[in-house]
Amino acid sequence: MGALRPLHGRHLRLSGIRARPAAGPYRDAGAHGAAGPAARSHVDPRPSAGAGTGAGRGQKHARPLRTRAAGFLRAGQGGVSGAGQGGAGTLPGHRCRAGSRSCAGADPRGTAAVAGGHVSRIAETLPWLEDHWQALRRARSEGRLPHALLFEGPAGMGKRALARHLVQSLLCQSPTGSSDACGHCAACRHVEAGTHPDALELVPEEGKALIRVDQVREFCAGLGLSSETPDGIRTALVHPAEAMNVAAANSLLKTLEEPAPGRIIILVTERAGALLPTIRSRCQRLRFAPPAAESILDWLVDRSGQPAEKVLPVLRLAGGAPLAALRALDDEALAERDGVFERWVDLARGRENPMALAADWMQADPVQRLGWMNGWLEDLVRLALAPGSEVKNVDRQPILEKMARHFPPDALLELRDRVLEAMRLSSTGVNLQLLLENLLIDWSRMRGGS
Ligand SMILES: [Zn+2]
Repeated sequence: MGALRPLHGRHLRLSGIRARPAAGPYRDAGAHGAAGPAARSHVDPRPSAGAGTGAGRGQKHARPLRTRAAGFLRAGQGGVSGAGQGGAGTLPGHRCRAGSRSCAGADPRGTAAVAGGHVSRIAETLPWLEDHWQALRRARSEGRLPHALLFEGPAGMGKRALARHLVQSLLCQSPTGSSDACGHCAACRHVEAGTHPDALELVPEEGKALIRVDQVREFCAGLGLSSETPDGIRTALVHPAEAMNVAAANSLLKTLEEPAPGRIIILVTERAGALLPTIRSRCQRLRFAPPAAESILDWLVDRSGQPAEKVLPVLRLAGGAPLAALRALDDEALAERDGVFERWVDLARGRENPMALAADWMQADPVQRLGWMNGWLEDLVRLALAPGSEVKNVDRQPILEKMARHFPPDALLELRDRVLEAMRLSSTGVNLQLLLENLLIDWSRMRGGS
């Protein structure tokens, strides 16, 4: 996996715009997936068969699983609600001439209507995003798709998967009757493999947390090149958008403000508040909120093969984000978390070396581990203040109950706050290993035993 993506037939190479694994667009590796393929989820919620035909096994859940209406880009709203002056929204009532190259993403085939009984691929694979998908699809077919979109929400919601699905549908050579990507034409396959010349992605380089300013400049130059598609469409996905520092973000502003015709830029972020206000105001924002737990329970039970009793606490720990829960429900993931918990408990008992543990966490997914530590500390605080309280880590309640007796709640709270701060700082290029070492040393010294 190199940091460069080949641009077919061109001499320009865009650093940091790298090809994705060929396994498909239906992935959302969360905040840190961009760090490299090793950090990506191995969960692939694509239907095993019958994609696009309604035969996928997620179909039966499609309707009840939908999250609340997107409130986004509805017909009649003009599609400008989230965009500032000179921003990315299209004008109220604006309609594209069929085949026009001046309107990004307009559906020149006029295939706006949902074919009778057709279930979108999103309804099958990421059913809680079906309303978002339909809003985007409608906006596109009515020529209202903004040039700049901001997908924001917690990790594990499927933001990036939906962005890639949108890209695929824009570039697909034989879309379905409802403007969905067919999933098997050459263009769809190239988008999936990360090799489509008109589907650019801007991510931090391998092993780096930040997107550099010269990466953004090259990216913008690449976006300005002419498209190879008949519709003149060229797409750009930036994730995580908060990985751009001020200089990098500033160099993207002009392109966001005045993109060349036919260009669609999608920014994906877990922390919209960390973006420059000028970036946010130039994008149409689409928020991804976790669906109600009961609406996603059957889907998770079905996909994970785990019983509902096991699914519910994991979903709660994942903040209600379905893909984050699905990843956590994987047997291997459960075993891994158990192993990390045991060593973390041993550290408090003086049986582990904090420096060695920090080094191990750095080798794996340090922010995921910080998230676990945050959850365990939260439960300890709760149990220290009120023994017998309901906790998030129900599977660990007995040992947490015992431990809680030996730790002062205010010290636990303070450590918990520092863990949250470390998670917040993790995407800023801070020395995470140093932070981890300090946190784990302090945890080992709090040592009340249990
Ligand atoms: Zn296709």
